[in-house]
Amino acid sequence: MFGEKPTCSICHKEIQGNDVVFVKMRYPNYKGMTEITAYLRNEGSFICEDCFNKKSN
Ligand SMILES: [Zn+2]
Repeated sequence: MFGEKPTCSICHKEIQGNDVVFVKMRYPNYKGMTEITAYLRNEGSFICEDCFNKKSN
Protein backbone atom coordinates (compact mmCIF):
# COMPACT_ATOMS: atom_id res chain seq x y z
CA MET A 1 0.00 0.00 0.00
CA PHE A 2 2.80 2.40 0.79
CA GLY A 3 3.71 4.46 -2.26
CA GLU A 4 0.42 3.91 -4.02
CA LYS A 5 -1.31 6.95 -5.32
CA PRO A 6 -4.40 7.96 -3.42
CA THR A 7 -7.68 7.16 -5.11
CA CYS A 8 -11.30 7.97 -4.43
CA SER A 9 -12.79 5.17 -2.32
CA ILE A 10 -16.05 5.28 -4.28
CA CYS A 11 -15.19 5.74 -7.97
CA HIS A 12 -11.49 4.83 -7.62
CA LYS A 13 -10.48 7.89 -9.58
CA GLU A 14 -6.90 8.84 -8.93
CA ILE A 15 -6.62 11.90 -6.73
CA GLN A 16 -4.68 14.60 -8.54
CA GLY A 17 -2.60 17.30 -6.92
CA ASN A 18 -4.67 20.33 -6.00
CA ASP A 19 -7.96 18.37 -6.20
CA VAL A 20 -10.56 19.01 -3.55
CA VAL A 21 -10.99 15.81 -1.57
CA PHE A 22 -12.87 14.73 1.49
CA VAL A 23 -11.44 12.26 3.93
CA LYS A 24 -13.47 9.86 5.96
CA MET A 25 -11.47 8.66 8.91
CA ARG A 26 -11.52 7.60 12.50
CA TYR A 27 -10.04 10.27 14.71
CA PRO A 28 -6.78 8.98 16.18
CA ASN A 29 -6.65 8.13 19.85
CA TYR A 30 -3.39 9.86 20.49
CA LYS A 31 -3.02 13.58 20.90
CA GLY A 32 -1.26 15.68 18.33
CA MET A 33 -1.46 15.86 14.57
CA THR A 34 2.20 15.30 13.74
CA GLU A 35 1.61 11.77 12.48
CA ILE A 36 -1.64 12.57 10.74
CA THR A 37 -0.23 12.05 7.25
CA ALA A 38 0.94 8.56 8.08
CA TYR A 39 -2.33 7.88 9.83
CA LEU A 40 -4.32 9.00 6.80
CA ARG A 41 -2.42 6.61 4.56
CA ASN A 42 -3.41 3.72 6.75
CA GLU A 43 -6.87 4.66 7.96
CA GLY A 44 -8.23 7.39 5.74
CA SER A 45 -10.64 6.96 2.86
CA PHE A 46 -10.48 9.69 0.27
CA ILE A 47 -13.66 10.79 -1.44
CA CYS A 48 -13.45 13.02 -4.50
CA GLU A 49 -15.58 16.12 -4.76
CA ASP A 50 -17.91 14.58 -7.36
CA CYS A 51 -18.75 11.57 -5.23
CA PHE A 52 -19.12 13.67 -2.10
CA ASN A 53 -21.64 15.90 -3.86
CA LYS A 54 -23.57 12.88 -5.14
CA LYS A 55 -23.67 11.38 -1.67
CA SER A 56 -25.06 14.46 -0.05
CA ASN A 57 -27.91 14.80 -2.55
ZN1 LIG B 1 -15.06 9.64 -6.66
